[in-house]
Amino acid sequence: MLIPVAPQWETDVQGLKYANPETVEEACTLLRDHGEDAAILSGGQSLLPMLRQRVGSYDKVIDINGLPDLEYVRETDGEIRIGCLSRHVDVASSSVVEEHCPILADVAAEIGDVQVRNRGTFCGAVAHADPSGDPPVVATLLDATIVARNADEKRTLSGSSFYHGFYETDLSKDELVTEVRFPVLSAGEGAGFEKYEPTEGAYPVATVGAYLSLADDGRIENATLVTGALEAGPTPMDDAAEVLEDREPTDDVLTEAAEQLGEDTMPVDDFEGSAAFKTNISKKLAKDALQTALDRAENER
Ligand SMILES: Cc1cc2nc3c(=O)[nH]c(=O)nc-3n(C[C@H](O)[C@H](O)[C@H](O)COP(=O)(O)OP(=O)(O)OC[C@H]3O[C@@H](n4cnc5c(N)ncnc54)[C@H](O)[C@@H]3O)c2cc1C
Repeated sequence: MLIPVAPQWETDVQGLKYANPETVEEACTLLRDHGEDAAILSGGQSLLPMLRQRVGSYDKVIDINGLPDLEYVRETDGEIRIGCLSRHVDVASSSVVEEHCPILADVAAEIGDVQVRNRGTFCGAVAHADPSGDPPVVATLLDATIVARNADEKRTLSGSSFYHGFYETDLSKDELVTEVRFPVLSAGEGAGFEKYEPTEGAYPVATVGAYLSLADDGRIENATLVTGALEAGPTPMDDAAEVLEDREPTDDVLTEAAEQLGEDTMPVDDFEGSAAFKTNISKKLAKDALQTALDRAENER
C-alpha cells in the first residue's frame, strides 16, 4: 500500500510544468492525478525530440531521474532484472547480461549513437513502444515480464502480448514501469537479433529477433521469430517459426524459415525503401539471427 503524498509542480519550463519526484510513491501520485496530460521523462531520447516537434498533447513532464535504487542490471531467481533508470550502455556492458542473455547486449549496444545509449533507458524504450524500437522486439521475443506500478498497486505484464500496434501497449496512463525482467537462457537455448539501419546511429528500417531451444537429440524443440520496424509494432512470425519446430537445424531449414518470414512480412513503400527491398532484407536478417541463436544454443549459452 502506497502512502499518499502531495508532490508539487516545481517550475514552468517553456510552457511545460515540470516535477521531479523523489520517490516512486510521489511519481505514481503525480501520474494518478495528471497521467492524462503528463509525460514521463526518463532518458529523454524519445520524449525530447517529440516535445521539440510538438508531437503529443502533454503540458506536464514528470522527471523520474531522481528516483532512488532503480539503476541496476542483476540476476535474481533465474531472471535478468533491469531497473527503469538503467541506460542502454549499462545493459550493453553488463557481465550478467553477457553471461546469461547476450541478445540483450547485442540490442542495447546498437541503439542510436553514444549519446542515445548513455542517456536512453532500456525500460523507457520498452514502455515507449516505438514501432522501430529494438527493445520491444526482444521483450516480445523472450516474453519479458514488465513490472508496472500505479498509486495503488504493482502488477506484472507479459512482454509477448504487451504491444498492440502504433505506440500502443497494455500500460495505463497512470502507470510507471519500474523494472523489466528477461529469462536467463539455459543450456540448449539461444537468441539472436539483427537489424538494418540506413546509416550508423539512425533508426532501423527492419529488425528480426530469433529464439531457438534444442532437444537432447539436437532437433529444434521451440522457435520464436519476431520482426520490428516493418509494421506498427513488434510482430510475431508464427508460420516461419513453425517451419523450424521438430526439425534438424540445418542450413537449409534455417533458410526455409527465413524465406517464409520474408514472405509473411507486410512492409509498405516509403522514403526508407520499397516494400520489396524490406522483404528481401528481412529474409537476410532472419537467417543471420537464426544462425546466432543456433550457435548460442549449441554452445550452451
Ligand atoms: C538519434 C536517435 C537514434 C535512436 N536510435 C534508436 C535505435 O536504433 N533503436 C531504438 O530502439 N531506439 C532508438 N532511439 C530511441 C532510444 O532508444 C530511446 O532511449 C528510447 O526510445 C526511450 O527511452 P528513454 O529513456 O529515452 O525515454 P524518454 O524519451 O524519457 O520517454 C519516452 C516515453 O516513454 C515512456 N516512458 C519512459 N520511461 C518510462 C517508464 N519508466 N515507465 C513508463 N513509461 C515510460 C513515456 O511515455 C515517455 O514519455 C533513438 C533515439 C534517437 C534520439
